[in-house]
Amino acid sequence: MAVSLHPSIDQGIKPGVKDFAGGTLSCKCGSNPVTVSLKGNVAFNHACGCTKCWKPNGAKFSVVAVISRDNLKVTANEGKLKIVDPAATIQRHACKDCGVHLFGRIENKAHPFYGLDFVHVELSKDSGWAAPEFAAFVSSIIEGGGAKPEEMNAVRSRLKELGLEPYDCLSPPLMDLIATHTAKQKGVLAA
Ligand SMILES: [Zn+2]
Ligand SMILES: [Zn+2]
Repeated sequence: MAVSLHPSIDQGIKPGVKDFAGGTLSCKCGSNPVTVSLKGNVAFNHACGCTKCWKPNGAKFSVVAVISRDNLKVTANEGKLKIVDPAATIQRHACKDCGVHLFGRIENKAHPFYGLDFVHVELSKDSGWAAPEFAAFVSSIIEGGGAKPEEMNAVRSRLKELGLEPYDCLSPPLMDLIATHTAKQKGVLAA
C-alpha cells in the first residue's frame, strides 16, 4: 500500500483549470464558519513538510499555495481569527474554535514573499484550483513526528510517483527568487 501523505493528493493529483475564477475557503466549524474569498487562482501550490503549516489530522504534509493579498478577503466571522504566532515571519490566521489556518500573511515589507498570502485550497468546495507542483521541506516531517527516518525513502518515492519532486527546502525557482531578492538588497545585483 502506498504511503499516505495528504488526503487531497493520495488518490493522485487533480489538474487545475486554466483561468479559474477563484472561490471560497471555509474553516471546519459546523456553525458560523470563518470564510475567506479568493479572487482568481492560486500559484506555487505544493506539499509542505514544515512543522508550521496547518494540515489535517494524520496527514504527513500540508498542501499550501500563495495568492496576492489584494485578492484575499475575509467574508464571515473574522472575529474568530487569531494569529497563531505573532513573532513568526508568516503570521498564520487561524480559527480559534476549530484550529484551521485560513491564511498566512507576511507583514515584513522587505521579505521576498511580501504581498503573497499562504492558503490551503482543500478548505474550498470549488474545484479548479492550481494543482500541487512539488514538495518542499520534505525532511522536516521527521521533526514534526510525521515519519520515522527509515520511512523517508518510501515517502520520497511516493512523492515522485505523484509527480511532486521532493525538495528539503523550497523548489529551485523559489530559492532563486529569494536569492535574487537578497542579492538586490545587498547591491550584488542591480535592482
Ligand atoms: Zn472554525
Ligand atoms: Zn509549511
